[in-house]
Amino acid sequence: MNMITNHMPTAELQALDAAHHMHPFTDGAELAAKGVRIITKASGVTLTDSEGYEILDAMAGLWCVNIGYGRDELSDVAARQMKQLPYYNTFFQTSHVPAIALSARLAELAPGDLNHVFYAGSGSEANDTNMRLVRHYWAAKGKPDKKVIISRHNAYHGSTMAGASLGGMTPMHEQGGLPIPDVVHIGQPHWYAEGGDMSPEEFGLLRARELEAKIAELGEDKVAAFIAEPVQGAGGVVIPPSTYWPEIQRICDAHEILLIADEVICGFGRTGNWFGSQTFGIRPDIMTIAKGLSSGYVPIGGSIVCDEVANVVANAGDFNHGYTYSGHPVAAAVALENLRILEEEKIVDHVNDVAGPYLAEKWGQLADHPLVGEAKSVGLMATIALTPDKSSRANFASEAGMIGLRCRERCFANQLVMRHVGDRMIIAPPLVIKPAEIDTLVERAARSLDETY
Ligand code: PLP
Repeated sequence: MNMITNHMPTAELQALDAAHHMHPFTDGAELAAKGVRIITKASGVTLTDSEGYEILDAMAGLWCVNIGYGRDELSDVAARQMKQLPYYNTFFQTSHVPAIALSARLAELAPGDLNHVFYAGSGSEANDTNMRLVRHYWAAKGKPDKKVIISRHNAYHGSTMAGASLGGMTPMHEQGGLPIPDVVHIGQPHWYAEGGDMSPEEFGLLRARELEAKIAELGEDKVAAFIAEPVQGAGGVVIPPSTYWPEIQRICDAHEILLIADEVICGFGRTGNWFGSQTFGIRPDIMTIAKGLSSGYVPIGGSIVCDEVANVVANAGDFNHGYTYSGHPVAAAVALENLRILEEEKIVDHVNDVAGPYLAEKWGQLADHPLVGEAKSVGLMATIALTPDKSSRANFASEAGMIGLRCRERCFANQLVMRHVGDRMIIAPPLVIKPAEIDTLVERAARSLDETY
């Protein structure tokens, strides 16, 4: 076979892709008929495709390229680490400097007494770890029946059997007979879609108290943990009412339920603090991390665990769990360099003080568009709800996917990557985005909305 390179004609690359590459979350036949878009390079917030078009990536890849594309420091560190020690495991009483250094740094950055890190290759794997870890913890405390994990409808916690079960996405559950046993779901704090005539604050309390009702129904002695994203990302950037998280925290504390904050999207600056838990005043016992940990340059995920859980587990014999790539030295070294850049370039402050407020102002103006029911953001994650009737917060019901898809396609034609979730359009650009680039982003989004309307 000839060498396959960026210089091949797009049609030939598309044909090879259709013949041999199975894509995640994709209708394969539809994609083969349309022809896949091929991205060849990227720099800052901008992608270039095989036709030479430059596209503003308002999704930071898949919510992950926090420091932006093209940072040679990360590739240089990866090359150095590959030469020094490309791989060694962290099983069987060995460790290495990248894993030690990254763990110590994460313990410094994480709030409270979240001082211990268990590594995985991805966010999904990390949530599998969490499921086993919390059950092992309660068993070690003499409470083996505390096994149930409560999650939320429309949550996303990954694609493995445990991750997809913890998630609350019905289309995922329908394929493969999920959720697995001992995972249950309660309502999400999605006021715009489900709050009816209530105020957001009333609705936030109502949804939080579903957790207390579920604990009462199952019995406190059966429930191990509650897991949630500070802001549901893949569910459509569902920013909770201000009353929601304080009430959830109260309930977890009152009923001896571990609180797992899935920070895979919200972590590493996305909401204007290092972690979404800090933005929303959450005190988690475990945080799931991935994506922005390495800005997506290499796969790495993990769980940051509090002293109490880590100490109990450390004194409970072998924890029979781990991945070949837990604490991979190249991934750890790249993540550490990524954290250095985030800190030294004050990128989290940039989100909180500059880019976040600027996006809030500009993005908020999209609410005036006839097709937009609400336009909201926190830090650098934002959402708009498309609506056929602003006053009633109506949605497009069965047409929702179509209208969102149409808008997404108009965005791409206008050199903007924006994602759709039903009839919600969402963005999460690289955290280094500048105000002038936000202007371009919002101008292209507005033009795409005009063309969707
Ligand atoms: N948790 C959340 C909140 C996510 O958004 C994702 C991925 O989008 C995951 C977990 C799964 O992470 P991964 O795709 O790295 O397995």
